[in-house]
Amino acid sequence: MKKDYSTVWGNCLSVIRDNVSAANYETWFTPIKPIKLENNILTIQVPSSFYYEWLEEHYIDILRKAIKWELGSEGRLEYNIIVDSGSPEAKSINLPPSNKKEVINPSIYMPIDINRGQSEDMPNPFIIPGLKKIKINSQLVESYSFENFIEGSCNRLARSAGYAVANQPGKTAFNPLFIYSNVGLGKTHLMHAIGLRVKSQFPEKTVLYVTAEQFVQQFVDSVKSGSTNDFQHFYQMIDVLLVDDIQTIAGKEKTQDIFFHIFNHLHQNGKQLVITSDKPPVDLTGFEQRLLSRFKWGLSADLQVPDYETKVAILKKRIYNDGIEFPEEVIDYMAYSINSNIRELEGALISIIAQASLNKKDITLALAKQMIDKYVKVTTREITIEYIQKVVCDNFGLTPDIINSNSRRREIVQSRQLVMYLAKKYTKLSLATIGQACGNKDHATVLHACKAVNNLIETDKLFKSQVEKIDKKLKI
Ligand code: ADP
Ligand code: MG
Repeated sequence: MKKDYSTVWGNCLSVIRDNVSAANYETWFTPIKPIKLENNILTIQVPSSFYYEWLEEHYIDILRKAIKWELGSEGRLEYNIIVDSGSPEAKSINLPPSNKKEVINPSIYMPIDINRGQSEDMPNPFIIPGLKKIKINSQLVESYSFENFIEGSCNRLARSAGYAVANQPGKTAFNPLFIYSNVGLGKTHLMHAIGLRVKSQFPEKTVLYVTAEQFVQQFVDSVKSGSTNDFQHFYQMIDVLLVDDIQTIAGKEKTQDIFFHIFNHLHQNGKQLVITSDKPPVDLTGFEQRLLSRFKWGLSADLQVPDYETKVAILKKRIYNDGIEFPEEVIDYMAYSINSNIRELEGALISIIAQASLNKKDITLALAKQMIDKYVKVTTREITIEYIQKVVCDNFGLTPDIINSNSRRREIVQSRQLVMYLAKKYTKLSLATIGQACGNKDHATVLHACKAVNNLIETDKLFKSQVEKIDKKLKI
């Protein structure tokens, strides 16, 4: 006797009813409509992809049992999802039974294809849309990996928290992980690194990187097309949600509202959130209090301007990746003179490389200085006392530690005095500050040093020529 779909589903429901609570039955099973039974495949219609996801995640076993009971071990279940619940004539799509994985652009937030997880050699023929995951385009940039993210004291906390989160998304206390800093210091890079690592460690997890601006745009579009439910459900299906530059939703109440609900849903379900911002939560304005308080639930970590060593390491990594020969002194100079952010450091590097290769010039200190003057904000190209120390040290084969010590050895004293003299000449620092930077000396010592160097220049030809050489190097 041929069974009809409503009888089959009716029988399934009676099995299910005995196995789930009344409230859950009401919420998750009564809205389902059976729509056809063909080739032992029962198709049921669910109100949204979220339902479908939820059923798969929480009721797969009982569904499997019920279908087996009714249709035998060859039986299958297929879902039909109502795409636009807002419009009167709800349109449905069939989930193709193929194995095909399709990448869905997140701007089309309605998943239309699932990985059914079927495979020929699976011993169990009983494959209710095994699906596990909907494949979406995570929008991650491959090169923004942990591997390419240089660690330094400027980013240690944020980096290690990010790494921990990537290894155990949703399971650490860092949820949300809130990363903040000024521009160009690595927020976006670190966020992508987290996403990439999650994907490689947990391929079954759904990761999505989205800028807050994109989020706003998608939300506005969904309002226009009456599909905000789908918008919300789509986001609630994500396992690791990375929202970049959250400050751009300041003052946007409706967006904040929906983000609040998405946030709660994900957080309650142990999903991971990573948020970046140009300010710490306490300094954000134009945000609902309830949202700000949630930002503070996990860990807030900032990224600082990198120190000299980190800048050198970043430059070297880039140069190494690009396979280019680069003189050390140019790297040093760049690391000393660019103090704004890493993006400018990289911008200068790219322009130097471009200039050198376009004009077939060698990469020299002079070229670097010229490029930095041109491309980096003028204020950042200042001769710093650290750079002066570096050049003096290189010239005499000493280290800053030795120069700044209290040693009375003549060449060390003279080098230290020379640093003070050049710092007075090239920086706007006060005598006291110069003294402090040279191993906690007082302003009188600096004044004395300047006089001593002037005297030496007049009396000692060799010393004079050394000073001229260093001076030239600083000034090019
Ligand atoms: P933000 O999002 O804070 O404005 P980005 O993540 O866009 O900054 O970083 C700017 C540039 O600096 C990117 O090209 C990025 O790869 C690079 N960068 C930032 N931090 C690091 C780091 N620690 N190691 C290597 N590169 C970095
Ligand atoms: Mg960014």
